[in-house]
Amino acid sequence: MAQQTGELVEFRPRTSLVARLVVVVVIAITVLLIWISNLYLTERFTQETRSRAELRMALYAGNISSELQRTSVVPLLLSRDPTLISALNSGDYAATSQRLISIRDEIDVAGLMLLDGDGRTVAATDRRAIGTHHRNLAYYVEALRSDGTVFTTQKQESGGLVFSHSRRLQSGNQGIGVIVVEVDLARLEQQWAFAGEAIMVTDSEGIVILSSEPKWRYQPIDQALADTTAPSAIERALQATADWLQTPAEAFLQGSAILRLDGKIGFQGWRLTYFTTFANVRERVNGVLALEIMGFAILVALVFYILSRRAVQQSNLFQRESIELRALNERLQQEIEEREKVERHLEVAEQSLAQSSKLAALGEMSAAVSHELNQPLAAMKTYLAGARLLLQRHRPDEALSSFQRIDDLIGRMAAITRQLKSYARKGGDDLVPVDLREALNAAMAMMEPQLNQMEVRITQSIPREPVIVRGDQLRLEQVIVNLLRNALDAMKTLKERQLDILMSAGEMAKLSVRDNGSGIDDLDQLFEPFYTTKKPGDGVGLGLAISSGIVTDLGGRLIARNSSTGGAVFEIQLPIVNEQTEAAE
Ligand code: ADP
Repeated sequence: MAQQTGELVEFRPRTSLVARLVVVVVIAITVLLIWISNLYLTERFTQETRSRAELRMALYAGNISSELQRTSVVPLLLSRDPTLISALNSGDYAATSQRLISIRDEIDVAGLMLLDGDGRTVAATDRRAIGTHHRNLAYYVEALRSDGTVFTTQKQESGGLVFSHSRRLQSGNQGIGVIVVEVDLARLEQQWAFAGEAIMVTDSEGIVILSSEPKWRYQPIDQALADTTAPSAIERALQATADWLQTPAEAFLQGSAILRLDGKIGFQGWRLTYFTTFANVRERVNGVLALEIMGFAILVALVFYILSRRAVQQSNLFQRESIELRALNERLQQEIEEREKVERHLEVAEQSLAQSSKLAALGEMSAAVSHELNQPLAAMKTYLAGARLLLQRHRPDEALSSFQRIDDLIGRMAAITRQLKSYARKGGDDLVPVDLREALNAAMAMMEPQLNQMEVRITQSIPREPVIVRGDQLRLEQVIVNLLRNALDAMKTLKERQLDILMSAGEMAKLSVRDNGSGIDDLDQLFEPFYTTKKPGDGVGLGLAISSGIVTDLGGRLIARNSSTGGAVFEIQLPIVNEQTEAAE
């Protein structure tokens, strides 16, 4: 469970980093692809537009040229027409106009006119023209002069242009009239305008003679293009382009936004100029790009959807886990509370145990103390009864020795109570720097009679300088006396008694007392109160317990071990007091 949580905690930041990276990469790829496809599609569609424009221009140029060529043969045919020649010769034009109308319908031209030798219209498809004079007009004058068909562009009074082929009619070698064939090029203009094309046709002098835009007509091409007074097809195209490029439209007339194609028509030096805009290229490219962007948007949305689903799943997992963790926490809390309760119970139990063990100890001690005290009391009673009898029998000397024994017993009882008193005393109240050497000397002096009596060989190794510890000298003496007395007890049955006393002052002050007795039977029980191996009357088992308590009170410890050479070693260890530190304090 804990392991799982750890993995997830580690996993979460990594996931969000990966997600961000994926999104950034997808966006980068999208931008790159859109950029590349923009370039590619623009190039491709531009090329397509250019090819289409070239094709259309060729088509329009072909239309004009075929229209002119088709109609150019009509004057030749009509100049040899016998009906027209005979009408001119006879001056009878009654049926001529009708004939011209039927010819016009057949060969599809704008109009036909027959002029007589004076340049007067004698027959025409447009009956209103009959009777009008054309003696000064180019198509009449030039046709009379020429042997072939002439083409002329005649400006009308209304402002429009009339394109016509004309040819002389002959009778013998005499020119008797002129046939004029009007070419309908305006029809083409209408077609261009209808198709929304921007086209102009200029003559050999660069004057616009045909145009999809009426404003351009009959002026030099540059002037026509500079004219911005009215919206034209090209302006509309330019405007569309300007919206796209945010740049003045004219700047692109020669540039790439507007395509201008020039070509020869192959008739009298005429040229055709064709304009087309790339606006539709933009539109088409934009269409494809919009599709691409939509595709990527769907992809990104999909990625987000998947990521959000994963996030939801993860958060569900975390939620579940946190619920589990909370439950676990609550269980732990309960357990802790139970433990605390148990501990409290245990403490109470321990306290009552301590209480009862204290009571037990008190009971034991009372038993031992009363046993210890009862014996000398009983003995004293016997000695006193004996002494009384001896006194009654007037034997005072013997009675005195009884009193002496009673005195000894009193001393013994005093020793027991003294020990108990020191056990009951609280330590740590009046601690002063004490020279351990002095405590040892005093204890040795106190024990000197017994040591001498038992002929104990003593070796002492003691530092020359004072060994200062914090304590109370009387209690330290009591501990040392107790150790010496135990050592003497242990060596009681020996002939050769050896006592080694060693004192040192290192980090701790140490005082060890070694005897060559039988050694310690039970090291574990040694310091327990009332543990003794001695006969009742010889010991109560309080000495070491009390001594250990005193040393512990002074901040040190009392340890015991059996020597490798036999016998027991007791060592008092006490913190040493630096005299300078002491002085400073
Ligand atoms: P007591 O001397 O009244 O028995 P202590 O507490 O002084 O009480 O000693 C407890 C016991 O420790 C002794 O009965 C003895 O068995 C053991 N003991 C103490 N000192 C020595 C020693 N130097 N050598 C062997 N045993 C010892």
